Amino acid sequence: MIVSIASGKGGTGKTTVATNLALSIENAQLIDFDVEEPNANVFLKAKIEEVEEVAVDIPEIDEEKCDHCGECSKFCRYNALAVLPSKVLVFPGLCHSCGGCKLVCPRDAISWKKIGIGKIEHGMAGELDFYHGILNIGEIKTIQLLKALKKKIDRRKEVILDSPPGTSCPVIETISSSDYCILVTEPTPFGLHDLKLAVDVVRTIGVPFGVIINRDGVGNEKVEEYCHNENIPILMKIPHSREIAHLYSEGIAFATEMDEWRNKFKEMFRRIKEEVGK
Ligand code: SF4
Ligand code: SF4
Repeated sequence: MIVSIASGKGGTGKTTVATNLALSIENAQLIDFDVEEPNANVFLKAKIEEVEEVAVDIPEIDEEKCDHCGECSKFCRYNALAVLPSKVLVFPGLCHSCGGCKLVCPRDAISWKKIGIGKIEHGMAGELDFYHGILNIGEIKTIQLLKALKKKIDRRKEVILDSPPGTSCPVIETISSSDYCILVTEPTPFGLHDLKLAVDVVRTIGVPFGVIINRDGVGNEKVEEYCHNENIPILMKIPHSREIAHLYSEGIAFATEMDEWRNKFKEMFRRIKEEVGK
């Protein structure tokens, strides 16, 4: 089973849930899809054993063959090509590597060159199989790195995907790769606002989902009321406790220190499996 962990915004405890859940169940794999700011390994402390550079193809123009007809730039819906009277300019940051410009070029003047966009690191945290992607600074090809990361999913394992925060394309890519989505929120007006946005996204994708309320006790009951009215299961409430906050500040996944929480995460996962029918 593949479970994505998402939240409408950053800082709600999404990575806390992903790491504690992954460390509580057997035969697990955790993949940190938050490639702009991966921090799951702060809690896992996996020893990185493999590093793989990720590159994408962008067009390279053979000016000897090109007659500057403009077909390629007319085709490119991302405005990644500009055909001048004596030169074709390529804007690698805008190119989506779709390959279309090469197909439409009547003079076979386009070939490919690789540009690096980031890397994927792999290691083990005890028995837990761990991957994360790291996007190069200033790079915007998040989806391409996520697609490379997706290939690391091991269907023989219980896979936990730590999604990027928010409700943008990378989040949609992550959630739609999963069988079930856990939305992590806080019981505050901001938490409720962002939860509603996230619920809209998950419902549109059509993946079954439930909610975990983190820092339960800091705000009000509105999130619970909303979930109740919308028929959304509340899978777990993590209290705003001094002990959990202390372990968090030390970079320790609290389920590894508190057996009752490891059992709660295990039990929640068992219920999700039952619901998904995996
Ligand atoms: S389609 Fe081919 S020949 Fe025409 S401008 Fe582009 S690269 Fe040059
Ligand atoms: S590969 Fe696709 S996105 Fe990139 S320049 Fe060519 S047509 Fe545009």
